[in-house]
Amino acid sequence: MSQTYALLLHGGAGVLAPRSYDPERTHMRELAEAGKAMLEAGDAALDVVTEIVRRLEASGLYVAGKGASPNQAGRYELDAAIMDGSDRRAGSVAGLTGFISPVHAARAVMEETRHVMLAGRGAERFAGLQGLERVESVNDYYTPAAAPDDREIATGTVGCVALDVSGRLAAATSTGGTLNKLEGRVGDSPILGAGCWADGHVAVSCTGQGEFFLRQATAKDISARMAYGGQTLAEAAAGAIGDVGSLGGEGGVICVDRDGNLAQPFNSPGMKRAAVYPDGRITVDVD
Ligand code: ASP
Repeated sequence: MSQTYALLLHGGAGVLAPRSYDPERTHMRELAEAGKAMLEAGDAALDVVTEIVRRLEASGLYVAGKGASPNQAGRYELDAAIMDGSDRRAGSVAGLTGFISPVHAARAVMEETRHVMLAGRGAERFAGLQGLERVESVNDYYTPAAAPDDREIATGTVGCVALDVSGRLAAATSTGGTLNKLEGRVGDSPILGAGCWADGHVAVSCTGQGEFFLRQATAKDISARMAYGGQTLAEAAAGAIGDVGSLGGEGGVICVDRDGNLAQPFNSPGMKRAAVYPDGRITVDVD
C-alpha cells in the first residue's frame, strides 16, 4: 500500500485561440476535485481514469467525445485506449462511430474480450452488443470544439493518469483525432505504447500530432527510459518530448510514476491540464 495518490488530466495540446479558457479551467478543476475525492476514498486508478475521461468526453469542451470533429468524409471516427499498470491489461478502439464514450468501449474490450484492440465496424458492433450508450443523432450530438488551427496536423485530445493509494497506476486517452484527418486515419491515442501506457513504473497519456508520437513510441519510451536508463520521471518525459520535437512534431504528455511524481512537459503553444499532487494541492493550466 503506497498510501500516496496523484493524478494528472489533459484536455489536449495545440495552439491557443485568442479567447478565454475559463470554461475549460473551471471544468478541469472540477474534474481534478472529483478525481482527488475518488482517490482519497480508495478507488482504483483504473476506475478513476475511466470516470475522468468519460466526463472529459461528455463535456464537449475538448476535441474528443462530444467535442470531436468530423474527418474529410464528414464522419466522426473516435479512438480511445485504457491500460491498467498493475497487471498490464489493456483495451482500445479505433475509428469508433456512434457511441457516447469511446473510453468505455476501450474498457469493455479489455474486460469482455480476449483481444486488446478493435477497430471500425467490429468495434461498433461490439460496443452495441455490450449495450454501451449510443449517440442518438450524429448531426445533433457532436459540437466540434476545434480551435482555429491551420497547421498541417492540428490536434485535440483528452487523457488521465493516476496513482491510487494501493500503488496501482492507470492511464486512459480518448480523441476525435486530428482536425480534417483522412477517413480511416488512426493516430497515437489508441495505440498502446504510443499515446497511452501504464505499467509498474509509470502511467502516460499523450496529446499532440499523433503521427510523431507513433514514430517515437512515446508513451512506452518514457517507461523504458526510467526502467532501463535509470532516468527520473522528469528526465524521461522531457527526453521523450524532445525526441518528438526532433522529428518536427508538437504536443505533450502527462505522466505519474509509482512514487507520485508528476511530469507534464509539452512543446506546443499550450496544453490544457490539471494536476492533483500527493499533498492534495490542485493546479490548472492551459499554457
Ligand atoms: N494525438 C491525437 C491524434 O493524433 C490528437 C491530439 O492529441 O490532439 O489523434
